Amino acid sequence: DGPAASGKGTLARRIAAHYGLPHLDTGLLYRGVAKIMLDRGFPLDNIAIAEVIAQNLDLADLDAEKLRTREVGEAASVVAAHGPVRQALLELQRAFSGQPGGAVLDGRDIGTVIAPEASAKLFVTASPEERARRRFRELVGRGEIGDDAAGYDAVLADIQRRDARDSGRADAPLLVAADAVVLDTTTLDIAAAFAAALAAVEARRG
Ligand code: C5P
Repeated sequence: DGPAASGKGTLARRIAAHYGLPHLDTGLLYRGVAKIMLDRGFPLDNIAIAEVIAQNLDLADLDAEKLRTREVGEAASVVAAHGPVRQALLELQRAFSGQPGGAVLDGRDIGTVIAPEASAKLFVTASPEERARRRFRELVGRGEIGDDAAGYDAVLADIQRRDARDSGRADAPLLVAADAVVLDTTTLDIAAAFAAALAAVEARRG
């Protein structure tokens, strides 16, 4: 678990590859619901429609590339605050996490709600400015935003708004699970963050 652009997705993919486990980026589920709402012109605050879309979401239909935009991320954090949407996506995530042999999931509420019994929990974080720098570079690389100070400021504002929404919602807010290892990646590169994450997982697995 961790806030937007903390590096949790990259770490989750690497940990999954290291242990040969299936990986689920649960943010894609919320992004998938949000994208369908946007494409069909439904207001994001229409909880009943969002719930039906979540109930019918098919993992196989999720195209990660199309879902990783700024607009979809912002909309995802709006629909993710709707309790019935979270409820509709709960079983799918629980089933994935409980599969024989294990799994790696990344999200906001994996250690607290989806898999409270998980054998290893990481809470990956970094300062808002560093997370904004990482997301900014990614978006500039994809040509989604201008390579200037205004672009960076817009991304920092996105991050701060998303943090506030994800932490402030009533249902499954972003929280550090009591038994999670907190990994602050502000000053770590990917290799160092992965080494620290792996050490934490290994310590938990005994
Ligand atoms: O991690 P990502 O940026 O793809 O997530 C998009 C949004 O989906 C988050 O801002 C959050 O509101 C929501 N989300 C969530 N619970 C999860 C994963 C994502 O609420 N387990």
